[in-house]
Amino acid sequence: MCGIIGILGEGDVVHQLYEGLLSLQHRGQDAAGIITYDEMFHLKKGMGLVSQVFEEKNLRRLRGNIGIGHVRYPTIGPGDNEDAQPFFVNAPYGIAMAHNGNVTNYFSLRRKLAEKSFRQLNSYSDVEAILNVFADTIDQNKKFTFPLMVEGIKEVFKKVEGSYSCIGVIADKGLFAFRDPKGIKPLCFGKRGRAFIFASESAALDLLGYKLIRDVKPGEVIFIDKDRKIFSQEILKGEVMPCIFEYVYFARPDSIIDGIGVYEVRLRLGEYLGKECQKAGLKPDVVLPVPDTARAAATTVAKVLGCELREGLIKNRYIHRTFIMPRQKMREISVRQKLNPIRSEIKRKKVLLVDDSIVRGTTSKEIIKILKRCQPKEVYLAITCPPLRYPCVYGIDMMTRGEFIARRYSVEGIREMIGADKLIYQTYEGLVAAVRGEEKERKFCTACFSGEYPTRVKKEDFAIMERERCGWRNKWR
Ligand code: AMP
Repeated sequence: MCGIIGILGEGDVVHQLYEGLLSLQHRGQDAAGIITYDEMFHLKKGMGLVSQVFEEKNLRRLRGNIGIGHVRYPTIGPGDNEDAQPFFVNAPYGIAMAHNGNVTNYFSLRRKLAEKSFRQLNSYSDVEAILNVFADTIDQNKKFTFPLMVEGIKEVFKKVEGSYSCIGVIADKGLFAFRDPKGIKPLCFGKRGRAFIFASESAALDLLGYKLIRDVKPGEVIFIDKDRKIFSQEILKGEVMPCIFEYVYFARPDSIIDGIGVYEVRLRLGEYLGKECQKAGLKPDVVLPVPDTARAAATTVAKVLGCELREGLIKNRYIHRTFIMPRQKMREISVRQKLNPIRSEIKRKKVLLVDDSIVRGTTSKEIIKILKRCQPKEVYLAITCPPLRYPCVYGIDMMTRGEFIARRYSVEGIREMIGADKLIYQTYEGLVAAVRGEEKERKFCTACFSGEYPTRVKKEDFAIMERERCGWRNKWR
C-alpha cells in the first residue's frame, strides 16, 4: 500500500505536495519522493519518512506548477533507494509516474519489456514497468494527444495485471491519473480555483483546501492539460471493487473512499461486532480500544453492550507502525514500546479490548500480556474484521500464507495462543454489511478474507510473489 498525490497548481506546487504527503504518511513510511516540472523535471526521493527525506533546500529546487508525490510501504522487492517513486522516462515527451498497488504479473512483464521492447528496468518497483508499457505504446514520434494517451493506457490495461492507481505528468502537457479496471486502490479527484488535484485519500484534499469532485472510476483515465482543459474516458467500464481492508484498517477515518465514509464504516463495524459479543454472552465492565484504528468501532461496541468506553492503553505516537518491522522480535519489542497501560482502568475489571485485525497474532499477544500484568479479572478481545487467511496480492503487506495465524489455528486455538479469556471475531457478513451501509449492491475486494480475487492471478505468479516476498524478508533478517 502506498500514498500518491498529483497537483496542477497556479504557482510552485512543491509545498502542497509535501503537505499532502504528510497527510498520507500512514500509507507508507518506507520511502518518499516528489517530482515537479517547469522546463525540466526536478526529482528528489529517498528512504524514510517525508520529514526525513525532504529539507527546505530540496523543496526550493523542486520548481514548477505541476508535480506528483509518493510515500511507499514495502511489498515485493528489496525496498532500496532504487525502488523509491516517482519514476520518469525521457521518451516520449518526458513522462513521470507514481502508483499505489501491486502488479501481479510483474516478473513476466519485466522480462517481456526487456526481450520485446529492449527496455531495461532499473529497479524492482512495479510502477517502472507500468510506465514503460505506457511509454512503449505511445513512443511513435507522434504529436501528443489525449486519444494517444488513451491508446497507451488501453495497452496498460491489456498487459498489466493486478491493482494500480496511477498519477503522472507529461512534460509540458499536463497531469493525468488512471485506475485499474476493478478500482481496487483508492484515487480521488478535486479542485481549488484553477488548481486540480488527484490523491489516494480525500483527507489530503481537505487538508490542502481542495474540494472533492469525485473518485476516479475503475478503468478510467482523466487528463488535465496545461490550459486546465479536462479530458476523461472510461476505457474499460467496470464495477468498482475497492479493497475492503482500506475501510477496516488502512485508510484515515476522515477520508471518503468511493462514496463511503471510513469513519462511518468503523462505527458500523462496532455495531455488528457488539452484537456478536452479545451473542457470545460477554458482560465486560469496560471497553478499551487498541489505539488508534479501532477507536471508532470501540465506541459502538460499548454502546451496544451498554457499558463504559475508556482509554486503557496509551500510544506513543513517535513509534511507527510495528507491523512493517521485518523481524518478529523487533515487532514484539516495539508493541511494548508503543503501548502503555493505565492500571486503574484495568485492575480487577473484566476488560473488553477492541482491535481492528489479527494477522500473525503478535500485537494481540503482546497487548494481552501488557494488560494481564495489571491484574484484570478477565481480558476479552473483539476484532472488527473476520479472520484474515489469504495473501493480499494487491499491495497490502500480508503476502505469504505462512504469516496468517488463522490458517494454522482455529478461533479457539488463536484465543489460547494470544492468552485471551474470550476471542470474538466479526463475521464476514457483518463486515460486508458494515462497509456497504445503505448501498446494498456494492461489491468489494475481499480476497484476504474470502480467497476470491477480483482479477486473474496465475498460479505461477502467486508462487513467484510469495517466494519473492519471503526471499526479501529473509534477506532483512
Ligand atoms: P499482527 O501483530 O501480525 O497480528 O498484526 C496485526 C496488527 O497490525 C493489527 O492490530 C493492525 O492494526 C496492524 N495491521 C494489520 N494488517 C496490517 C498491514 N497489512 N500492514 C500494517 N499493519 C497492519
